[in-house]
Order: sequence, then C-alpha cells, then structure tokens
Amino acid sequence: MTKEMLEKAKTAKSAEELLEMAKEAEIELSEEKAKDIFSRLNSDGELSDEELGAVAGGCGESYPMCPACYSPNVKYEENYSRYRCKRCHYVFTEPLMS
Ligand SMILES: [Zn+2]
Repeated sequence: MTKEMLEKAKTAKSAEELLEMAKEAEIELSEEKAKDIFSRLNSDGELSDEELGAVAGGCGESYPMCPACYSPNVKYEENYSRYRCKRCHYVFTEPLMS
C-alpha cells in the first residue's frame, strides 16, 4: 500500500468502504483484515510499517529473516541501512523474506 493509498484509506467511513478501496486498487484484503485496519486507522490514525507491509502483501505473513541462520530475530539498523541478526550477529543488507 502506498502513502497515497493510506491517506485515502483514512477517509474510509467503514470497513466495507475500505474493502472496496482495496478491491479497486487490486489489493487482496480479507474482510477480517479490513476491519482490523479500519479500527486501527480510527484509533490512533497510524499504521506501523509492518502493518502497511501486511496490507501491501495481502496476507501479513512476510517478515525479514537472517540469510545465514534463518532466524526471524533480526534488527534493522536505520543509521547504517542494514540488518543485524540478533541470533548469530550476521550483518546484511538484503534479508530473506519469509
Ligand atoms: Zn543469523
């Protein structure tokens, strides 16, 4: 989901409307997920990057993993634009996506 789409999504007045918007944008969104996103949008108005990724990915099951040991316990170091694995301490820029 792009920022523009998120702005648009914020204008949805119901989960059903949000679902319609997703359909128009050809994003696969379950009714349950639409309700979830709608309630979040209307609670604090912010979605985390992970949640945005979940919307964009449709299923919300994708997350970065360490390419060395396949641990999902990785931390993104913004200052260095890289990831660090908390398990094996491997540093990488391109994570494996689950
Ligand atoms: Zn690792």
